Amino acid sequence: MRRLLLIEDNDLNRDALGRLLARQGFKVLPARDGAEGVELALQERPDLILMDLGLPLIDGHEATRLLRATPATAGIPIIALTAHAMDTDREAALASGCDAFETKPVVVARLVQTIEALLAGDRRTQVVKPGPPPAKEDG
Ligand code: MN
Repeated sequence: MRRLLLIEDNDLNRDALGRLLARQGFKVLPARDGAEGVELALQERPDLILMDLGLPLIDGHEATRLLRATPATAGIPIIALTAHAMDTDREAALASGCDAFETKPVVVARLVQTIEALLAGDRRTQVVKPGPPPAKEDG
């Protein structure tokens, strides 16, 4: 079963989204702050990470940078989740190393599409604006 690490500090959002994704056939590992999220990512090596950007202790940007800088987790796809829909938020998330960006409240069908695309190896499918070519990935 594909395992998703869901890092979200809002209990209601985490429980609701976790249930919806479980119903889609994913095993959901919950984490409630950035520190716990990074720790669980290292321990559990999930197939994909859903990263709220506004998190206590370590925010989503910093958590993503930490995971990207760690060989064991550098290759795990990360989808940023945020209530803000500004272009600057999207760009900041991608600059931190996220592969895709979803605005909350999450549209589950669209999120699942993005998850499936990333799990199939289609990285950076959600980048809307053309940017510089992606850096060569190690491993
Ligand atoms: Mn939050």
